[in-house]
Amino acid sequence: MKKVRTRFAPSPTGYMHLGNLRSALYGFLFARQNNGEYILRIEDTDLDRYVPGAVEVIYDTLERSGIYFDEGPNEGGPYGPYVQSLRKEIYLKYAKELVDKGAAYYCFCTKERLESLADETGVKKYDKHCLKLSKEEIEEKLRSGIPYVIRQNMPTTGVSKYTDLVYGEIVIENKELEDQVLIKSDGFPTYNFANVIDDHLMHVTHVMRGNEYLSSTPKYNLLYDAFGWEKPQYIHLPPIMKDETRKLSKRHGDAYFDDFVKKGFLPEAIVNYIALLGWSPKTNQEKFTMEELIQQFDIKGISRSGAIFDINKLCWLNSEYIKELDFDKFMVYATPYFEQSSIKNRYDYRKFGKILQTRIETFADVIEKVKFIDEYQQFDPILYENKKLKIDIPLAKDILSRSIPILEELDDNMWYAEKMHEVIVKIAERFGYKAAQVYTVLRVALSGLSVTPGGSAEIADILGKNESIRRLKQSLAWLD
Ligand code: GLU
Repeated sequence: MKKVRTRFAPSPTGYMHLGNLRSALYGFLFARQNNGEYILRIEDTDLDRYVPGAVEVIYDTLERSGIYFDEGPNEGGPYGPYVQSLRKEIYLKYAKELVDKGAAYYCFCTKERLESLADETGVKKYDKHCLKLSKEEIEEKLRSGIPYVIRQNMPTTGVSKYTDLVYGEIVIENKELEDQVLIKSDGFPTYNFANVIDDHLMHVTHVMRGNEYLSSTPKYNLLYDAFGWEKPQYIHLPPIMKDETRKLSKRHGDAYFDDFVKKGFLPEAIVNYIALLGWSPKTNQEKFTMEELIQQFDIKGISRSGAIFDINKLCWLNSEYIKELDFDKFMVYATPYFEQSSIKNRYDYRKFGKILQTRIETFADVIEKVKFIDEYQQFDPILYENKKLKIDIPLAKDILSRSIPILEELDDNMWYAEKMHEVIVKIAERFGYKAAQVYTVLRVALSGLSVTPGGSAEIADILGKNESIRRLKQSLAWLD
């Protein structure tokens, strides 16, 4: 069998839509699991859409996603250049070859004439007007420098069909096919032409891309046939949907890789999640390393219908990845969010980090989750009451009045969470309480809240000795 070669062919528009990232991922997984080769090709022939710096964004996103290439603009390779704007002459040469074969033709129609072709619904299907020009007329027009495009000469009868590995047999009536432009008046190829030339010259065996290309693929196949080239296998991918009817938008905020990174999602979690958007593994497994994805990905598991983007599931996966981070790495990600939070420069971020790592879904949650530390104010003593732990208000008072002097005795350098745990357990033993009772009463007294992200030892550590003792005494006073 031929060596599998797949490609990712983004247009450099400046941002990576999750749908594109998923195409990149599937192509990568398929190439790697087949010990094949993976190619990056930049499709920048639409000069209006070009955004400077976009290629760096593509590389950066893919690198953070764990996707890498064997051939591409930075990697080099035997079939370069891998940037379409640098291949202009190649496309022109092949387009002329098609003209010679009668599979394409020069078109000199003006914009006005093309506009006039609109039917009652506004559709402008080209009427093959320039196909009737004689050889001499064409040469004359070319000599006098009249702007032209090169169009594909589509058959007008019969059907075209092909088998997509996901969608099965696709059949289209040739009379539906428009004589699409292959070379534009600026000399650049359209996507419709360049993708065929490049996929052939780059020996691509499997084309994976969004299903918006499903119905144009017969046109590409006609080009392969005209050249006498072998066609690749096609794997069209279902769209990613916002809900039943709408695609995940192109607006900022909810569709681009960087949007999600800014909201505090880890690239690993995003990649894991999008792997499952349109592909179902054979088992119930949901969390995958890249290695596992390479092993288990299977194009038979790709669905035809749109995959609905479920932010809750992404949040859950993200929390799982966050929990597993090495603490220092966790802090690298979390620190920018502490910096944006209400506790900026006031408390020790690492102490907070210790209690938050297992309690957030995205790093942005840090901003909300630290707020409790400043919410201390006079509270209803009912917060101490706990049936399960048999805590009532008199017991809370006892615990507080006995704990405060002991805690006050502690040296400043003994005031850290681990030590607090020891002291709390000792207080419980000494006075015959359950440790959980002491923990709970102190936690409520220190925070004024019934639920907090951390326990009393951690909160006391974050607050420091002075503030902790102040709050405990204050809470006890409120009980009187
Ligand atoms: N440049 C095209 C896009 O970004 C690529 C489609 C393809 O993979 O062929 O949609």
